[in-house]
Amino acid sequence: MSLSRINASAATLTKNRTEDSIVPLSGMCATCVDGCIGMCEIGKSAYRGHEVIYPQPFGVITTAAEKIYPVDYSHFNIMGTAVGAQGIDADSDKAIFPAVNLEVTFGHDKGIKFRYPWIIPGIGSTNIAKYNWEGLAIGSALAGTGLTIGENVVGMDPESVIKRGRVVDTVDMKRRIKLYKDNQRDGYGAIIVQANIEDTKLGVQEYVIEKLGIEIVELKWGQGAKDIGGEVKVRDLKKAQLLYERGYVVLPNPTDPDVIKAFERGAFKEFERHSRVGMVTEESFAKRVEELRKASAKYLFLKTGAYRPADLARAVKFASKYKIDLLTVDGAGGGTGMSPWRMMNEWGIPTVEIHSLMYQYTKRLADRGEYVAPLTAAGGIILEDQIFKAIAMGAPFVKLVGMARSPIAAAMVGKTLGRAIDEHQVPVYVERFGNSKDEIFVTASELRKELGDKEFDELPTGALGLYTYYQRLAQGMRQLMAGSRKFALEYITRDDIAALTKESADVSGIPYVMDVDKEEAEKILDS
Ligand code: SF4
Repeated sequence: MSLSRINASAATLTKNRTEDSIVPLSGMCATCVDGCIGMCEIGKSAYRGHEVIYPQPFGVITTAAEKIYPVDYSHFNIMGTAVGAQGIDADSDKAIFPAVNLEVTFGHDKGIKFRYPWIIPGIGSTNIAKYNWEGLAIGSALAGTGLTIGENVVGMDPESVIKRGRVVDTVDMKRRIKLYKDNQRDGYGAIIVQANIEDTKLGVQEYVIEKLGIEIVELKWGQGAKDIGGEVKVRDLKKAQLLYERGYVVLPNPTDPDVIKAFERGAFKEFERHSRVGMVTEESFAKRVEELRKASAKYLFLKTGAYRPADLARAVKFASKYKIDLLTVDGAGGGTGMSPWRMMNEWGIPTVEIHSLMYQYTKRLADRGEYVAPLTAAGGIILEDQIFKAIAMGAPFVKLVGMARSPIAAAMVGKTLGRAIDEHQVPVYVERFGNSKDEIFVTASELRKELGDKEFDELPTGALGLYTYYQRLAQGMRQLMAGSRKFALEYITRDDIAALTKESADVSGIPYVMDVDKEEAEKILDS
């Protein structure tokens, strides 16, 4: 059975002519007929060429791979128990699910505290991030979780002031940080600024530490969606030229007179801006860590993608050796604003496999008494059961999960409903809950009470959407943890999940469900 569907996808706005009869191997119609206008990827590529590589339409979607991986988190189940409670008195009146503590503290001095064990691990210069930033920043801050400003935000901002190759002022970066910080409560959560090659050259992290009060910066090696640098589309010739001057790879060359003429004629409507790929070496890593510490970075994070195992080992080892405060590992297939569609589907180590390797490598160092960085497990996680399983899979090292597509989705839905409320056009599907912000969003009354009328009324509905989604995840996690009798995150262990297939047991080292508790069960039976 093929794991991939090729040659037609909603992601590339392509389909087959003979939808009922498709060759599994090639994804082509069983009969490819002379005269077809070419609705499939081959056909569309015959006239739009490289444009068909990317998911469409750019700027208003997030995308993730459709590939069916042999193992995923559905191949594990959570093991509940009828006995006892950890982290609370084993008393039925006390061990109730609202009493589950989801707070997590980490960092070399345990100085970072989140209300919930999750973080948005880096969304940057894509339009989808920019247009939804208000909801993402305010919602994350109110919820007391982390938000990472991804790569290229400064370089993409036409209003950034760059002198002698270094950034000295910005508009978008300032706005993004301010929106988060102004809404942070009681010291929970954190805003982090990530950097890739271009950001590092521009001195973005030094600038945000010195001028904008950022305490946490992240070195970026990659992500799950692709193994090349970030890409965005640019519809404005002047902006494409500005980015070209700032050192980005812009295709086609926006300073070439023939290209300018073709663009103005309408032969193509978008330029592509690409980032460069990094060249990881221990020497350069050590040097950059030292530079950032000298620049007064209080905490240093590292994010790596679904690269081959040796690169994961490098990330785990470097994070240990250079005392990194958080290491994020993103499995293949994770979502993004604009990555090459086939690359997103066909490259990298999938989530369960990479999380399993991450656990093995980290344990190896921990068993030798070496420092190990707290871990964030990312890659297609959207709901509480997956959060529980990912934390259990990497216990006791995984402190957080990383999610990006689902928070963006929640913020976008919140924003869309806000617009519908303002225009008095609430869809029937939603109208049964009411027509106002207070009636539709189930967390509204609680937030109105906490924030006061003025602040609540000014709250963008995108933030309300994210906050409410997070509340749901929190309650779902509390229920799952109460069922496993684990009343705080530190009590979750690998023993809290079981593998449902031999293959998933083999990949993860988590026992096959029929082998779980074998000895204990026999002892009970023979007593
Ligand atoms: S060109 Fe047309 S007939 Fe041929 S595979 Fe594509 S959609 Fe099918």
